[in-house]
Amino acid sequence: MEEEKKEIKVEETSSNEETFDYKAYKKRKKAEEAALLAEQWKKEKEERARLNREARLVIEHEKFHSGDDKFPDTDDFVIASHLNKVYSNKIRAVKDFSLNIKKGEFVVLVGPSGCGKSTTLRMIAGLEDITSGDLYIDGNYANKLDPKDRGVSMVFQSYALYPHLSVYENMAFGLGGLGKEEVKARIKEAAEMLQITEYLDRKPTQLSGGQCQRVALGRAVVRHAKLFLLDEPLSNLDAKLRVQMRSELVKLHEDLQNTMIYVTHDQTEAMTMATRIVVLKDGVIQQIGSPKEVYDHPSNLFVATFMGSPTMNVIKCHYKDGLITMPNGDFIQFDDELKAKFKKAYNRVEKSLMERRERDIDRESGDVLFDFDADLDKVERFIRNASNFVIDNEGDIYLGIRPEDVTFDVGEHGDLNMKVEVSELLGAEYSLHYDLAGQDFVARVPAKQMYKAGDAGGITFKRDQIHIFDVESGNLVF
Ligand code: ADP
Repeated sequence: MEEEKKEIKVEETSSNEETFDYKAYKKRKKAEEAALLAEQWKKEKEERARLNREARLVIEHEKFHSGDDKFPDTDDFVIASHLNKVYSNKIRAVKDFSLNIKKGEFVVLVGPSGCGKSTTLRMIAGLEDITSGDLYIDGNYANKLDPKDRGVSMVFQSYALYPHLSVYENMAFGLGGLGKEEVKARIKEAAEMLQITEYLDRKPTQLSGGQCQRVALGRAVVRHAKLFLLDEPLSNLDAKLRVQMRSELVKLHEDLQNTMIYVTHDQTEAMTMATRIVVLKDGVIQQIGSPKEVYDHPSNLFVATFMGSPTMNVIKCHYKDGLITMPNGDFIQFDDELKAKFKKAYNRVEKSLMERRERDIDRESGDVLFDFDADLDKVERFIRNASNFVIDNEGDIYLGIRPEDVTFDVGEHGDLNMKVEVSELLGAEYSLHYDLAGQDFVARVPAKQMYKAGDAGGITFKRDQIHIFDVESGNLVF
């Protein structure tokens, strides 16, 4: 009995304690939440202050600057020089955007949603004010030019057609200054080019999405605009039509030989259509180059993983004594082939820097118009990083290799030795998935033989397709 009572007492006490604890817990939790909130507010306030400071700097810079009197000495068709956009809510959507575009180029701005693509395009079109920086179009200082005087034509994702007007009327809209015959001739030509002649009498509601987008393009074509600005024009179309319109747009560009700036979040569109790609992230240009350059020589991890599908395999490795060791213990040697790749990469960086120095020189004063020292510094850092590697230092790196840049030999030994977890036949090739210390590793190999889950063997990397990235900055080392 005594024993039982005791036990009950103990239980009671503990349950009382729990109630007490709970209150204290609630109180503590509340205090913690309040502290967290205060910390968050403080951070937000600091961030707002930082944005304000940054925005003020951009705006002040503009006050001392009026670019209209000094046209750069180049024959480029569009020159965007240090463009910045700060919205009224202090969001700095575009940061120091500089790009020269030659006549006839098809430039694609690509990046994830919110990276500032549309804002850049809209500044070029004149639909958004430029906060700072200079814009020249076809030899004119364009910052203050009215949109209609810029010689640009814009095509939007939403088509923006007048529903109560026929296709013909939609295309003729705004061509009032031209004679009737001229308008007719232009529409006939554009309609044939875009294969919409038979729909000219229809209203937009009687057309499919693809046909509407052709009409929207037609409106730009009849204007004989020197510069086409296209903002995600294919996003509303289904996958099959998108592929078809992609090639039609390339053909249209070949026919018209005009200059196009095209905005998309779809890396495939960028790769297939552009003569030059500009990759953006958080309002900052990450890389400018031909589709091949950007694909083969991505400047950082962001570009490497954004461009290409399936995405590049990125493996965190440790290097020491000339060996690059992967998470499963397999390693590759920093051998002559890799050293040769480094040398090539270094030559490429040096060459592009020299070319830029040539191009960006002020003809009169001889001053170099870009921050050569800063860039030189970048090259030096690049060499330092890479030579650290060569002289057998120790550290972590990211190794990048695209799925198609490996071979897989069942039963053999390779750089990585693993067994297939999932095998997907995609027609002419297999997509093979492996488990590399908990990370999905993908190989794309020709379907000359059959591969199945459980096949064990060696994956070998093409030496000249290995990319090495700095762990901290994510920048390409070589
Ligand atoms: P993208 O076209 O790459 O998706 P946007 O140029 O539309 O990106 O937007 C870039 C950034 O600017 C985003 O953070 C977006 O929220 C912001 N932004 C866009 N338009 C406005 C606006 N009118 N006012 C304030 N912020 C805006």
